[in-house]
Amino acid sequence: MRILPVLAASALVFTASSAIAQDLTAKASALREKALSDPSGWNVIESLTTEVGARPVGSPAMERARDWGVAKLKELGFTNVHVEPFTTPAWSRGAESAEVVAPYPQKLHILGLGKSSPTPAGGLSAPIVVFHTYREMLEAPDGALKGKIAVVTEKMTKTQDGSGYGGINANRTSGPGEAAKRGAVAYLVRSLSTDDTRLPHTGGANGGGIPAAALSTPDAELLEHMADRGKPVIVKLDMQSSNNPAAQAWNVVGEIRGSTAPDEVIVVGGHLDSWDPGTGAIDDGAGVAIMTAAAKLAGGAKPRRTIRVVMWGSEEQGGSGQAYANAHKDEISKIVVAGESDTGAGLIWNLSLPKDSADHPAMKAFLRAIGPLKIIVKRTPPQFGGSDIAGLILLGAPFVDFNQDATRYFDLHHSADDTLDKIVPAELAQNVAVWASFIYTVADSDIDFRKLATGAQ
Ligand code: ZN
Ligand code: ZN
Repeated sequence: MRILPVLAASALVFTASSAIAQDLTAKASALREKALSDPSGWNVIESLTTEVGARPVGSPAMERARDWGVAKLKELGFTNVHVEPFTTPAWSRGAESAEVVAPYPQKLHILGLGKSSPTPAGGLSAPIVVFHTYREMLEAPDGALKGKIAVVTEKMTKTQDGSGYGGINANRTSGPGEAAKRGAVAYLVRSLSTDDTRLPHTGGANGGGIPAAALSTPDAELLEHMADRGKPVIVKLDMQSSNNPAAQAWNVVGEIRGSTAPDEVIVVGGHLDSWDPGTGAIDDGAGVAIMTAAAKLAGGAKPRRTIRVVMWGSEEQGGSGQAYANAHKDEISKIVVAGESDTGAGLIWNLSLPKDSADHPAMKAFLRAIGPLKIIVKRTPPQFGGSDIAGLILLGAPFVDFNQDATRYFDLHHSADDTLDKIVPAELAQNVAVWASFIYTVADSDIDFRKLATGAQ
């Protein structure tokens, strides 16, 4: 006799939670459908690339990007729109040129790397030493490159998951320092690119105290061919740049306030700064557009919790993620989950949810809602959510990793070809659909990723 009431109570609980889950699924599915045909994401990226263009940290364009971000968030109905200032070192490119002086004089296509030192006024000329792999250069003893320009021509592999970039990233980031240690007067690296155009791809490096630049992929091969002929190849570099040790920068923020639990916050965003040669469309105007549009759509369903969009202001040269974490460490327990989009606008093809959360009714609702998009749900927890949320993650914020198809991303990344025409509107909209469904199901539920991860429900 005592069993029945208990059964009835648990049945009631079950009915209630399954009704909530069904409601979440229905609303998240409706958001998915709406997002797939909604132009908001495209409108944001078209506006940013047209009205601002390239926006390196420390530049006047970055100030215009800040004002654009504030105006755009207000225009789209976000509240508590504000900027959070911080300072960070900023490197700025000046005039650059490179040419082979002998034995076969011709021009080379290069782009200086972030934190590169300038050459002396009038440039520097020196013989090159070509290494077909980065490892070969590391095997050269100290002093072996004295007075030489080190050239690393290793190719990057094209992969869907972008792992080709991770495998070769040190060639650019650590190469200048390693070359300098061995006595080199300058460093040239084959662009970390999977394309064959004559456009070089820039990116951050650790300095090393010498001029350092990326060669376009055909120019790297041209130097290999010249070196193969056995005569000394003399290259002249003329590269100017400047450093601001404490440039003003900003994270731009807007919110859609939650209805019944406004202190609990979902933090999502992309980075507003970019490198200088393109218009910063895929890196990372796309991420800004995806998250702004997804937050707006999810917020339109008036969920319980607050949705916050952050346009981080110095990802490429570093500083914005740490500045954000420093400024928000006291509210870390209120950050329900953090997410970042920073791999262009290619389709989301797999994703990782926080540990042990996939069976929670809210995440079941999310996964049902995105079922038609045929995304692989990985069984492993996310490993890397993005560099601008890395500081929050270190403080303990739960995070997700939605992986985009990166097959074409590194054809364009950090080059003059990073422009709006490379974005496929339907692919951008798929990203918005996935994020809008996720943001909504988290924001309108009571899911606690921290508790799920520790099994302390
Ligand atoms: Zn980026
Ligand atoms: Zn980048």
